Amino acid sequence: MMPVGQILSDNVRLLRAKATRPAVYGVLIATLAVIIGTVLAAFVSYGSISAENIIKAQSSNVALWVLDLTPFAFALWGQYVSTLMAYEAGSMVMDQTQALRTRTTALEYQAMHDATHDHLTDLPNRILLLDRLEQALHSAQREKRKLAVLLLDLDRFKEINDTLGHYQGDRLLKHVSSRLKHVVREADTLARLGGDEFAVVLHHLATLDDIHTVVTKIRKALAPSYMLDGLNLDVQASIGGALFPDHGTDPDTLLQRADIAMYTAKQEKSGFVLYTPQLDHNSPRRLTLMSELRDAIKNGELSLRFQPMVDSRSNEVPELEVLVRWEHKQHGVMTPDEFIPMAERTGLIYPLTLWVLKHALEQQMEWRKIGLDMGVAVNISAQTLLDPEFPDQVTGLLAAYDVPTERLILEITESSIMFDQELALHILSRFAEMGVRIAIDDFGTGYSSLSYLKKLPVCQLKIDKSFVLDMLSNENDAVIVNATIDLAHNLGLRVVAEGVENAETFERLKSRGCDALQGYYINYPVKGENFPAWYYSAARSGGGANNLASTT
Ligand code: C2E
Ligand code: CA
Ligand code: CA
Repeated sequence: MMPVGQILSDNVRLLRAKATRPAVYGVLIATLAVIIGTVLAAFVSYGSISAENIIKAQSSNVALWVLDLTPFAFALWGQYVSTLMAYEAGSMVMDQTQALRTRTTALEYQAMHDATHDHLTDLPNRILLLDRLEQALHSAQREKRKLAVLLLDLDRFKEINDTLGHYQGDRLLKHVSSRLKHVVREADTLARLGGDEFAVVLHHLATLDDIHTVVTKIRKALAPSYMLDGLNLDVQASIGGALFPDHGTDPDTLLQRADIAMYTAKQEKSGFVLYTPQLDHNSPRRLTLMSELRDAIKNGELSLRFQPMVDSRSNEVPELEVLVRWEHKQHGVMTPDEFIPMAERTGLIYPLTLWVLKHALEQQMEWRKIGLDMGVAVNISAQTLLDPEFPDQVTGLLAAYDVPTERLILEITESSIMFDQELALHILSRFAEMGVRIAIDDFGTGYSSLSYLKKLPVCQLKIDKSFVLDMLSNENDAVIVNATIDLAHNLGLRVVAEGVENAETFERLKSRGCDALQGYYINYPVKGENFPAWYYSAARSGGGANNLASTT
């Protein structure tokens, strides 16, 4: 770069050259004035213009002497002013350049900070985390030290975000990040990877117990309730850990394995899990599955199965439950347990549910054309139910496929309505006004209060299969099943038992007054196009309770 002094003197030269021009004109004009003045003076004083008269006028007229000085005065003055101007302008330019340079540096720093930090919490982001992890791995390798990566994902954050809105969700994330900042040592790195996911790199790990100490501290820090929007919220995190060099020697592998451990912690609800290779069996898939699921919804790689619910008195099939499958190119047909929790975690559950609804209603319309007028029951996750747009989307789809509202049942779980009771009640009332029926799914596995249940516009309870499967051999399960049937009837609700796998269970439930039955004994979930064949053959053989097992 050119030295500042040189730039200044070059500028001065340039500007002086420019400013000197008017001074030169001044000198020329003054010289012209001297000539005209002298000629006129010679003519006025001596009557003619000759060299002799001009010299005479010059030597005798004092006024001309003064006039003679003007070109020199102009020249000097021009020189002086132009130099002054040039210096002033030059240093102004220099000042501005300096100011600009300072601003550019500040902007560059800001841009660098923005690119490497999370806007909401100002914590390092994924880019900076990877950079620091890379460096930390180098020095850990050199010094033969251990290092740990922890991945932390808030439990139920999606629900909170969906229910209370993004503003409150963001506030919660800020609270969480400031609590985390206090428990993570300055030498370690705390980063936000996006959404409700945080990472901690423990750069210096003396013993393995250190990990547990940090995890305990984190969990303790997150334990007290958060006050948001007048609500007391309890939010815990699931944490997964991976160690260098035991579980990986590069950032990607370590983060991936910490993620696998975190996912296991979430599933087991155990709070913290340290990676072991045994966790791998379902996990590498999981990572690619997330992005594949988005495409699968778009490209129609999902398909539906329908499982009849048989009326225990008439043996008719008034409705079927819709169950989604993912026909994965490599992994074959995948059941919902393998991807619904992931869809719920990533927000894909909403488009997925709309896909399911659309195709279920389309199928319903097809059956109606051949004289089968069945109701369809669709499973709805909490996030979907509490989405303010959901009721309108349902209305639109019902109208598009010309399906009467009472032919649609929404199966919702107790936990999804308990999370935000007021909002749930509001949305469910909207559906009830439209004529859409509501069923409480997996009844008995949640903690809904009876008084609240009574307020809800619900028309049926589904006893979870975990109670039904063993009810013949397990006295406790039998008691729960019986109590649920009585409770439902006392509340004026229909009761459906799912997981009916054999004739004895079927008969027992029927004799206890259970209104509808669903399970492999009656039929496996089947493809829509295969349902009419099963239905007519079941009807021919005298009712729905036929084990016409079909796995397609
Ligand atoms: P769920 O709502 O409790 O659905 C009943 C599950 O029990 C189904 O499993 C069904 O195939 C299975 N089942 C039915 N009869 C029997 C039986 O006699 N014995 C046994 N052992 N199982 C039986 P599936 O299809 O794997 O679905 C699992 C869960 O995935 C469902 O549980 C539901 O919670 C969820 N799910 C399925 N489809 C959707 C969907 O479209 N959206 C959402 N949000 N969740 C869905
Ligand atoms: Ca269900
Ligand atoms: Ca269930």
